[in-house]
Amino acid sequence: RSADRLVADLVRDVPDYPKPGVLFKDITPLLADPEAFGHTVEALGAPWRDAAPRVDKVVGIEARGFILAAPVALALGAGFVPVRKAGKLPGPTFARSYALEYGQETLEVQRDAFEPGDRVLIVDDVLATGGTVEAANTLIRDAGAEVAGISVLLELTFLAPRTRTGDLTVHSLLPV
Ligand code: 5GP
Repeated sequence: RSADRLVADLVRDVPDYPKPGVLFKDITPLLADPEAFGHTVEALGAPWRDAAPRVDKVVGIEARGFILAAPVALALGAGFVPVRKAGKLPGPTFARSYALEYGQETLEVQRDAFEPGDRVLIVDDVLATGGTVEAANTLIRDAGAEVAGISVLLELTFLAPRTRTGDLTVHSLLPV
């Protein structure tokens, strides 16, 4: 579809960012275009619109995930829950650390973020190695909710992220 083409054309490849040898997918041109941004939000939510049981909460992962997950939550009539880097959320949290390509990252969610049994959709911009989504999935379970699935804008299939997402349903708008 032409809207998908518009979205694809507005993701910019940036060589050697943030480290030499990495080809970074920059979504800022897409976000600056209201038609492409709107189509992206619509397409991320579409597979879950008539889901049974319904999606109760949409989780966004700091920071680019917030930009996409919040409007998807509103479009689905669901609540928004932030998963943030360590030390950013007030009150008791669950935390998970995981390995990055270089170094490590810790993500947190508030302990009272969900009602017991909430069904949760994870939304992020890029699924690369899958480590970030795997950590978010674990945090959501720690907090007593259930992951319905994952919607991402870009999936870097050459990094085989689905080896980390187990049997969760993954929708990606642009597999590259
Ligand atoms: P993973 O944990 O799957 O290896 O990496 C995914 C996380 O890193 C996502 O939260 C995403 O925001 C970020 N990320 C990794 N590579 C890229 C990239 O090329 N472009 C953007 N925009 N984000 C990336």
